Amino acid sequence: AAAPIAQLITREAAQNMYQPREKFSYKGDYGHVLTFAGSKGKMGAAVLCAGAAINAGAGKVTAYIPEDGNFIMQSSLPEVMTVESEGEEYITDFKNPIENAVLCIGPGIGVKKYTCSAFAKAVKEQSTPIVIDADGIQILAKHPELIKDIPKDSILTPHDGELKKLIGEWDNSYTRLEKAQEFSKKNNVILVLKGAHTITVAGSGQYVNSTGNPGMATAGSGDVLSGIIASFLAQGYDPLTAAAFSVYLHGASGDLASQTYAHEGLKASIISNFIGSSILQLF
Ligand code: AMP
Ligand code: MG
Repeated sequence: AAAPIAQLITREAAQNMYQPREKFSYKGDYGHVLTFAGSKGKMGAAVLCAGAAINAGAGKVTAYIPEDGNFIMQSSLPEVMTVESEGEEYITDFKNPIENAVLCIGPGIGVKKYTCSAFAKAVKEQSTPIVIDADGIQILAKHPELIKDIPKDSILTPHDGELKKLIGEWDNSYTRLEKAQEFSKKNNVILVLKGAHTITVAGSGQYVNSTGNPGMATAGSGDVLSGIIASFLAQGYDPLTAAAFSVYLHGASGDLASQTYAHEGLKASIISNFIGSSILQLF
């Protein structure tokens, strides 16, 4: 088969994806994100993910967290509500606390046995697209039988290390893309292949991002991205648009932030704080 033509996500393309708000809207119109993230020593992943979901405009965000992480989450993010798992240090169970929320699952959860079962239950209960990142992808790689339970058009956001575990090794950038497409088609999911040139793969479609810089190679950067994607999904963007638009904005936020902080001074929470500025910069 002929290689499909990749589309570059430029500023103009991102402008066309943007959906301005209605004057008489209220928070219920902008959706609810449910993060399933964090564990002892990695509560920052949950804070960054939930914080980015708020910063990107979700009407409400609830963080499902291990019990001991409650104080950290509540004192870090006053806008975010919490629901505690029974597990103290890890999430060990799942009782859906919110109907119709968009699930963003994986950052900092670890891959312990009970977390894997909670992950499996949470994913299986969803009927609309979700975002799976980080340890969530590692769990899928360890338990490939769970892949069939992922709702159609869900978005997976692996970096190359996670991608290798999910689809196996590749020889070159062409076969990397081919294998990713195969996975995307077979499982009806969108793959966001993160890196210096992030490529969003949706079946045969490929969308190459034009923003971002090496300052974004920093801890927690990816947790911010998954929160942004879930946020736009919750706001009603279709999954492919939510993925490509969020990747663009995440890179643009990093580019703007680097003008003040330099590549070295960039950190994930700063990228997150520049999301609003990157939306203003679209126009
Ligand atoms: P993670 O490894 O999960 O924290 O994700 C890292 C995030 O930073 C992804 O969104 C990458 O696309 C982005 N990133 C990492 N390195 C670079 C780079 N050299 N240039 C642009 N973006 C990068
Ligand atoms: Mg990551």
